[in-house]
Amino acid sequence: MHFTMPRVNSARIQEALDRFARIGATPDGGVERLCFSEEDWAGREELRRWWEQMGLVVRTDPAANMFARREGTEARPVILLGSHLDTVPRGGRFDGALGVIVATEVVRCLIEAGITTRHPLELVNFTAEEPNAFGRSTIGSRAVAGRLALPELAARNPGGQTIAEGLRRVGGDPDRIEQARRPEGTIAAFLELHIEQGRRLEAAGVPVGVVTHIAGIRRLSCRLSGEANHSGTTRMADRKDALAGAAELTLAVEELARSAGDPAVGTVGRIEVIPNAPNIVPGQVSLAVEFRHADPAALDRLAEAFEGRVKEVAARRGLEGLVETVTAFRPVPMNTVIVETLARACDALEVPYLRLHSMAGHDAGHIAAIAPTGMLFVASRDGKSHTPEEWSDPKAIEQAAQVMLAAVMELDAALP
Ligand SMILES: [Zn+2]
Repeated sequence: MHFTMPRVNSARIQEALDRFARIGATPDGGVERLCFSEEDWAGREELRRWWEQMGLVVRTDPAANMFARREGTEARPVILLGSHLDTVPRGGRFDGALGVIVATEVVRCLIEAGITTRHPLELVNFTAEEPNAFGRSTIGSRAVAGRLALPELAARNPGGQTIAEGLRRVGGDPDRIEQARRPEGTIAAFLELHIEQGRRLEAAGVPVGVVTHIAGIRRLSCRLSGEANHSGTTRMADRKDALAGAAELTLAVEELARSAGDPAVGTVGRIEVIPNAPNIVPGQVSLAVEFRHADPAALDRLAEAFEGRVKEVAARRGLEGLVETVTAFRPVPMNTVIVETLARACDALEVPYLRLHSMAGHDAGHIAAIAPTGMLFVASRDGKSHTPEEWSDPKAIEQAAQVMLAAVMELDAALP
């Protein structure tokens, strides 16, 4: 079967971006559409109207994920396209929404061109992708992948509301959450388009990225114990200063990640000092350490090297050092058939692209556990994200959308 490929409509994509950016708009040009909020609901209602106007059948699953379906010519597993509409506090207009909007544009182009795919197509808006006040992210995609632990639904935000209550507010049914799970084999492919949220594409002068892996994350908690004592009377030679040791280790994290080379990153994002008083030598310090890398062996090496530094610093300074692994997400490879299909689509359309790792987590990282999954990135101006300054060039968005449309058509022909 050969079709002339329809062209995506850039003006329509921009119009939709504007429309959704008005829902939860902040005065500084950003968007705040926190999960389970009134703005979340308003965004969902807008999306439902939009999808229904296109003649799609819209349903909400027990995890409040929204799906819109267009039947194919054959009884096959679905090709799923989409992302999330929720944002971080004072976020931007692209993170998440762009993926839902471009996915919708792709299906709309097929409808208008009178092309019916063999596989059914489904659009998705995943619930609560972003980190939120409940301390749980990617709630919707994890429910779909069967990776949402039931006790998590009882997690509360500082206002005392539970995730279960939040889900009910936006059309979910937490009592039936297990039924949100999609068994393996029911999704032929999942494609997520997202902004890069980094500077790699921009630095290379390239509009589009084909994601090969979603980076693994290793979060470590490090506790150093020394001796709290009077900051005036304790001689320098007699000190067991936990914070001075922690300062060395903070620099060690930076140095280890730098010397491991791209794409390794290392961060100390939080330090807790006890007793944290101006006239007391710090007796105890906790560090929240995070490493990310696309290669699991490299992540292991970074974590081991850090533990080695903790031992060395602790021994030299007379401290006690303890390191615990808080989370260990393994890197997630994208499906090679989909990666190659996206790359071929870029070549065929003469869209310059880079193969790269996603250094941020995404819904795709969870759906990859149950379905062949791929991601397409659009360059972010100045690498900015999770801020009102988030921006992607309309031309780059159009190119990425066209690549996605071509890839969907090719996957539809090729996949079982
Ligand atoms: Zn996102």
